[in-house]
Amino acid sequence: MTSPNRNLNIEFTKLFINNEWSPSTDGKVFPTFNPANEEKICDVSEASQDDVDKAVKAADTAFKRNSPWRSMDASGRGKILGRVADIMEQQKGELASIETLNTGKPYLDAVQDVEFTIDVYRYHGCLADKLSGKTIQVDGPYFSYTRPEPVGVCALILPWNYPLSIFAWKVGPALACGNTVVVKPSELSPLTALCQAAAFAEAGLPAGVLNVVNGYGPTTGAALATHPLVRKVAFTGSTATGKKVMTMAAEGTLKKLTLELGGKSPLVVFPDANLESAAISCHNSIMINSGQNCCAGSRVFVHTDIYDEFVEKAVACAQNRVVGDPFDSLSANGSLISEMQMKKVLAYIEKGKAEGAKLKCGGERIGDKGFFVQPTVFSGVTDDMTIAKEEIFGPVQSILKFTDIEDVLDRCNNTDYGLAAGVFTSDVNNATYMAHNLKGGTTWVNCADIITHQTPFGGFKGSGFGKELGEDAMKEYCDMKTITIQVINKNS
Ligand code: NAD
Ligand code: MN
Repeated sequence: MTSPNRNLNIEFTKLFINNEWSPSTDGKVFPTFNPANEEKICDVSEASQDDVDKAVKAADTAFKRNSPWRSMDASGRGKILGRVADIMEQQKGELASIETLNTGKPYLDAVQDVEFTIDVYRYHGCLADKLSGKTIQVDGPYFSYTRPEPVGVCALILPWNYPLSIFAWKVGPALACGNTVVVKPSELSPLTALCQAAAFAEAGLPAGVLNVVNGYGPTTGAALATHPLVRKVAFTGSTATGKKVMTMAAEGTLKKLTLELGGKSPLVVFPDANLESAAISCHNSIMINSGQNCCAGSRVFVHTDIYDEFVEKAVACAQNRVVGDPFDSLSANGSLISEMQMKKVLAYIEKGKAEGAKLKCGGERIGDKGFFVQPTVFSGVTDDMTIAKEEIFGPVQSILKFTDIEDVLDRCNNTDYGLAAGVFTSDVNNATYMAHNLKGGTTWVNCADIITHQTPFGGFKGSGFGKELGEDAMKEYCDMKTITIQVINKNS
């Protein structure tokens, strides 16, 4: 097992444009922090509108007809992604350590994130030369075929909760399909995006194909999402920001768009479920990454017959969960990302209490350095309470009660979100009926929060549209062209 490195030398802090590291044109920087001890790690260059313009133009030039990138075989693109995976394999401990330092997430979780990232690059690398169209029989003296083509310059705007892997979820398929990209990592967690950019340069990616601009959303992010040379925007973040980005993508030049947004995912536990295993799955689903997880099971509906027993098990899981130094291998949870996020979570907990939910355990900040919050369980939660409606994005489990299957389906689906859902039952009819009628882009049976690089992931309704991961992710980064040729018989 790779061990954590606490004495990191942070090498990459500038903007990555045209395979070169450069400071911003106006010299501006912003600090990035370790949330677990609130200490500044380093300054990072902040991209101005001019820098964004430079990066997009570099990507646009790299996408030009007959450029090295456009002339490269698809298998060549796949090999570069494979080499990036190999490089990251070598740097696993270092990358995971930087991710932990910059996000406060446990080192062992960060190692898993690096492994997932590597899997994503290998998977999409292997798909690069497997894109294909159809030959189509058409009426008249014509022959038609379809051909997937890269879209062009893609703007990739990232969140802070899984900085390493969500970078790959977008960059992997975008490059496999032959696009060029400009990435804007979250202002809260830019460091591992920059490390990955360095790995791409080392792997032999032609200049301009991948660019990274650090900065804040309303400035750097907006400059990118509105740039006229950008052809596609892929965004992961909150629904509120996603709506703004959708408006931006319609201004100026019309841009293709995928949105991976928030969730309020329901999990339903029936009396015939394996209760112990369901309780553990539901616990992990809401507590992993300190609840800063878009598909967290934030509403657990438990059948009235097993309600009390389930709550007891949920509380035991929460009380046993170790929260502490993210570099300590015993810590299951580390720090939340920021003071703002911690305050938001604590405010939701206060709201839960005030609106009459029963606080069974947790509910407090831990210590006064770093943004650690106790694993928290509420029982007696009802649909009208704020904690049952809004995305908390923290380690707060809400347990609701149900009796009737039709009623619980309506309650699960009665939300603007639709990212994920789950059901725990040993009855196959129950399982299938629920899985088919829950409105969630991903629906789990007797498990929760299982995301693989082979399966498409993405929301319904207010959780966004478009898929990441799996073969479907490739479609998001292609335009399908129809080519029709007249077939003439010269002898007639
Ligand atoms: P956020 O919406 O605040 O920010 C996401 C990104 O958008 C950041 O890079 C930010 O700088 C940028 N941004 C902010 N304002 C912008 C603007 N006006 N124009 C352009 N870009 C702008 O989200 P966050 O706080 O980073 O992440 C938490 C949210 O993300 C949660 O709601 C969570 O559910 C969601 N999320 C969803 C998924 C998913 O796959 N569905 C994954 C992770 C996080
Ligand atoms: Mn935010």
